[in-house]
Amino acid sequence: MTDQTLPHSQHKASDAELSVNASGNNLANSRKVFVKTYGCQMNVYDSQRMADSLAAEGYVTTDSADDADMVLINTCHIREKASEKLYSALGRLRNMKNKRQADGKDLIIGVAGCVAQAEGDEILRRSPTVDLVVGPQTYHRLPQALKQVREGRQVVDTEYAIEDKFEHLPVATREQVRKRGASAFLTVQEGCDKFCTFCVVPYTRGSEVSRSVAQIVSEATKLVQAGVRDLTLLGQNVNGWHGVGDDGREWGLGELLYHLAEIPGIARLRYTTSHPRDMDEMLIKAHGDLDILMPYLHLPVQSGSDRILKAMNRKHKGADYVQLIQRIRAVRPDLALSGDFIVGFPGETDEDFEDTMQLVRDVRYAQAYSFKYSPRPGTPGADLPDHVEESVKDERLQRLQALLSEQQYAFQDSLVGTEMDVLLEKPGRFEGQMIGRSPWLIPVIIDNEQGEVGDIIRVRVISTGTNSLMAEKLA
Ligand code: SAM
Ligand code: SF4
Repeated sequence: MTDQTLPHSQHKASDAELSVNASGNNLANSRKVFVKTYGCQMNVYDSQRMADSLAAEGYVTTDSADDADMVLINTCHIREKASEKLYSALGRLRNMKNKRQADGKDLIIGVAGCVAQAEGDEILRRSPTVDLVVGPQTYHRLPQALKQVREGRQVVDTEYAIEDKFEHLPVATREQVRKRGASAFLTVQEGCDKFCTFCVVPYTRGSEVSRSVAQIVSEATKLVQAGVRDLTLLGQNVNGWHGVGDDGREWGLGELLYHLAEIPGIARLRYTTSHPRDMDEMLIKAHGDLDILMPYLHLPVQSGSDRILKAMNRKHKGADYVQLIQRIRAVRPDLALSGDFIVGFPGETDEDFEDTMQLVRDVRYAQAYSFKYSPRPGTPGADLPDHVEESVKDERLQRLQALLSEQQYAFQDSLVGTEMDVLLEKPGRFEGQMIGRSPWLIPVIIDNEQGEVGDIIRVRVISTGTNSLMAEKLA
């Protein structure tokens, strides 16, 4: 941990993707923290753990920066403009902090996540109003960092911790878990050793580390006992997870899923995000054997062109991926597939892009994410020749997204008239309406529903919208 006795500073965040309200605490005079989360589910999970850690210091979470005593921005570095976004948010926070200080009050500003890891001290240099910077591997030391901030220091703590952060983080209380609902994330693996040439993750999150079976089972059991029914295991390369099991053998993610399926009260299991090369036999078998392993798989392929897959260092061909999907579908025919695609990787020709379109037609996705290639400084892809024109990337992205949307709609439309179990998650916009989650993650809206959050009810799908289904409860 480095700390610097420098003049202090401060904020107002806005255009982020998710804000996390994680504390179930309701102390009238407690301090408030607003956590702004950018990026993936792993960042959502980290934000919740940071909120738990701050709850132990007397902070309750708030949904607005305006009434917060502390603002923590949990950043994502996966695509460009991440740091620009951060610095403009910090500019707004500085104004807010200045106003507060003029009124004799204060605001603590913290930056966490992958941009914090990548930029470290540079954040304090460019934005001296920031009080603390913590990396993804050091956020368990937030309480110590806060103590130093209160002593008038600025703190940068991004050095990889020797200790296991999960051993040092407080466990969420039952109330905190309940407040977050019936679905939860649980990080089982962090970091990545795959070094895809476009990706910053191996640099910002470090090499692959798997949490122990005991830690995972303990956290999963506590979540389920507090009311969680739908549990998603997370990892940057989650199916690379491995650990020594109860029987003294080395387990992979498949064995772990069989084991977690035994926890009394658990109703649904999922995992994300996986690499095609780490889908082993046991994991594929689990998809056939375990009813509670939901028939939804996010398995990115990135491109359908073997030339581009090689340049991306994906270490598999398009045909390997298509065969893999066939094997998983053979054991789980109702599997809905999701994926990630990058268009305009350096050197991608029209022909390469057509290979991607053909792979999409062959595989048929229920849902997918697609991105324009964004050169990340320090990754091998950024130094490759033949970068693709922005206008060409735009045109390819549009065509790919049109095809993926068509497939998404076709999948949802195929569900109309069918029956399914839906996990109730929250009240809908209208009186008497509830929103639930289908086995395939698509939100389901049910009118005149008296059930409680956490109930699993049987419904028939009446119609489909763009991103949701309408359904009626079956008696
Ligand atoms: N571990 C996962 C995998 O193997 O595919 C993905 C992790 S990454 C957080 C999520 C997605 O962001 C990737 O699958 C990729 O499609 C996209 N992505 C990563 N780096 C990118 C870049 N430089 N430009 C555009 N998209 C990128
Ligand atoms: Fe990044 Fe995923 Fe490749 Fe790892 S496997 S380098 S996280 S895209």
